[in-house]
Amino acid sequence: MSDQNVISLESEIGFRALFENATIGILVVGKKGTIELVNPNARKLFGYTNTELIGKSIEILIPESLHGKHEHHRESYFEKPKSRPMGLGGDLYARRKDGTVFPVEISLGYYELGGEKLAMAFVSDITRRKEAENKLNKINEELEQRVHERTLELTAALEREIELNELKSRFVSIASHEFRTPLSAILSSVSLLERYSAPEHLEKRTRHNERIKSSVRDLVDILNDFLSLDKLEQGKMEVTHETINLPEFCESIVEDLKGILKEGQHIHYLHTGAKEIRQDKKILRNVLLNLLSNGIKYSPEGKEIHLSTEIISPRVLINVKDSGIGIPEEEQKHLFRKFFRAKNATSIQGTGLGLNIVQRYVELMEGEIGFTSKPDEGTIFTVKFPQNISE
Ligand code: ADP
Repeated sequence: MSDQNVISLESEIGFRALFENATIGILVVGKKGTIELVNPNARKLFGYTNTELIGKSIEILIPESLHGKHEHHRESYFEKPKSRPMGLGGDLYARRKDGTVFPVEISLGYYELGGEKLAMAFVSDITRRKEAENKLNKINEELEQRVHERTLELTAALEREIELNELKSRFVSIASHEFRTPLSAILSSVSLLERYSAPEHLEKRTRHNERIKSSVRDLVDILNDFLSLDKLEQGKMEVTHETINLPEFCESIVEDLKGILKEGQHIHYLHTGAKEIRQDKKILRNVLLNLLSNGIKYSPEGKEIHLSTEIISPRVLINVKDSGIGIPEEEQKHLFRKFFRAKNATSIQGTGLGLNIVQRYVELMEGEIGFTSKPDEGTIFTVKFPQNISE
């Protein structure tokens, strides 16, 4: 035996051992797609015996839906064969004897034997790796979702902080501007009171006392607006339904407002329909106080204000009508905006917060608010909300 023969014999044994023991599946396929050789690991991977595979078409190891595609790829591979991974950039799947499909990674190689081209496929089952990848992808997705949610929360918190800061600086400017008039009225009335100590000055003293009271009320109103707004913005407003006798409730509010009526002003109140409703007393009171005091504030002396309530089960309808300065048409769309004040109202004291608060209160009552207005003729505000009483 020549040295050459020893080496070739040993190398054949060596190559056979490599083929038999490889922990990767190896398949040798002819140009027509016939399986020529299969190593034990490939048989194990696909669940076939050797005789079940040899001579069969390679397509039996490929999911049916991919057969057409694979035949085309196989033919073009044999035209220009070279060593390369298969299916670059896409996922590859193989089919076991029992029909189950699993993900694989495949490298291709080729050689020629007796003038025939043969392709080699090195197949690894990557089910575990895919599972790990999928798990990782899922964790990544969850993480991204959490980052997204957290970002939204932080953005909302930041926006709220910005809004709060704006509210605070607006408060400082409104307070310094709006507090000045009532405070100087109080100061001048207090110093005048000292002068009118004689019994015959009783009327003057009463007038100055009234001026002080109404100025203090203005200050309290401004503070209340800010407090209500802050509470509403923080979502701290709780709604508690109570049974209310609507006409009695409104009459007492009309009575409370008598103190701020201007010379010759009256509030006419009319109720129709059933009397009982279930609503939050504080919220409803604030809505009525705000609308009625605006009616008083934005109407000149001697003008009537009309309040009407009506229950048309299951809805409650409230109208507040004045014959005051009205709202310029082009400004009406901004009316419920925070701090908005129409240009015909700037000489009258106010913060521009009342209607924004009223609108939010009406939302809490699950109702709606609207208005119609004509400059120099007057304004009607309409509020509708559920009666919350089943007949
Ligand atoms: P404020 O009265 O403190 O300015 P509001 O939010 O209650 O704040 O009202 C906002 C603006 O809407 C007022 O400044 C005024 O221009 C206008 N407005 C509200 N009610 C009336 C009304 N009844 N008649 C005329 N204008 C009104």
